[in-house]
Amino acid sequence: MHQNGFTTGILHSDRSQSVEHGAVHKPMHPSSEFAYEDARELAAVFQGKAGFTYARQGTPTTNALEAKITLMEGGKNSVSFATGMAALAAVFCTLLRRGDHLVSSQYVFGNTNSLLGTLADLGVQVTTVDATDAEQVRAALRPETRMVFTETIANPGTQIADLKGIGDLCRDHGLVYLIDNTLTSPWLLQGREMGASLVMNSLSKYIAGHGHALGGSITDTGLYDWANYGNIYDSYKKGPSTGWGLTQIKKKGLRDMGGTLAAEPAHRIAIGAETLALRMDRHCANALALARFLEKHPGVARVRYPGLESHPQHARAAGLFKGRFGGLLGVELADGIDCFDFLNRLRIVLMATHLGDTRSLALPAAHTIYYEMGAERRRQMGIADSLIRVSVGIEDEADLLHDFDQALQGCMKA
Ligand SMILES: *Cc1c(COP(=O)(O)O)cnc(C)c1O
Repeated sequence: MHQNGFTTGILHSDRSQSVEHGAVHKPMHPSSEFAYEDARELAAVFQGKAGFTYARQGTPTTNALEAKITLMEGGKNSVSFATGMAALAAVFCTLLRRGDHLVSSQYVFGNTNSLLGTLADLGVQVTTVDATDAEQVRAALRPETRMVFTETIANPGTQIADLKGIGDLCRDHGLVYLIDNTLTSPWLLQGREMGASLVMNSLSKYIAGHGHALGGSITDTGLYDWANYGNIYDSYKKGPSTGWGLTQIKKKGLRDMGGTLAAEPAHRIAIGAETLALRMDRHCANALALARFLEKHPGVARVRYPGLESHPQHARAAGLFKGRFGGLLGVELADGIDCFDFLNRLRIVLMATHLGDTRSLALPAAHTIYYEMGAERRRQMGIADSLIRVSVGIEDEADLLHDFDQALQGCMKA
């Protein structure tokens, strides 16, 4: 039987829900509350019947977006959040309790690293390991271990975890496996194929793509049987046990903790998501061209990009990401080139944090997003003082190469 492809699926997914007034584009529903003709119906929705009550727990607009994300991830169900960090915090805080053990990759986004510190202060045991090697994850397991977490391509070091190896390990040990798919997006990788139980995406990045909205999501792949997980409250043990975990994340993370995505950003993200595959291919092609150009440039000491043969996990990336390598580069400048001088000379590339925007963005990683954690932790995470994080946009390739070249040449002459 013919199965529609990735982009066709996203474009036409709204029609599988309901079409209002024949509107081709899904209308937005910003209403905070939802009323019923019959009070019994209102009670039924509170007691578990599908429907809407109060927007903190979802709206038709967030539901439509969640359906698109579930489709993209090949998962069972998704919940959206106000930001990617809200999504991660919701998973950790609703599924882990004091005394539980979490094994995390040591190569993670700076704010996630900080969140792991908060968890530790709340009494969750956290061990960070070099997740490019599944054996290191295995060696860290304890009787109290409940969950393993890694990013796909690490932000900003671009290390690539042994995603499949860790998936096998988690399956064998009955552990929840959470993957942050932000840098690859579901167009390059579906967490389910790695054996993930839950997949987090920052919707603010490639999925929206336009820098006009923040959002995050958690997708349940359906691979984990939550009947084996000790921390599920009895009231959420309804329906098939493969869905209990996401029910708890939604009830506690949205209803109790309130990290809800509002209708307007959800709407904007859904529009952006339609062109994910097209944009991502262009981000990846531009990033590969720029990485190859910079690798040979005398003003550059080292380029970290999974598409380069010199990248330690190049072969793994080639096998996992459908021949594409993402849009994020780490560039270490040659001795004697000042990273601030270099950045100030760029004309097209914007000096800004964020990634996955259509425009190219760059920032001095150690001095900005990794400043707070201190030099020692930066060293452990492989973040050099001169590391520039570049989120490669969808501009014309020649213009990007020219911009980097003129800025480097300017520094070398100075
Ligand atoms: C940006 C980012 C996040 C957080 O997402 P927000 O939507 O900005 O909260 C989490 N993980 C990774 C890898 C990211 O790049």
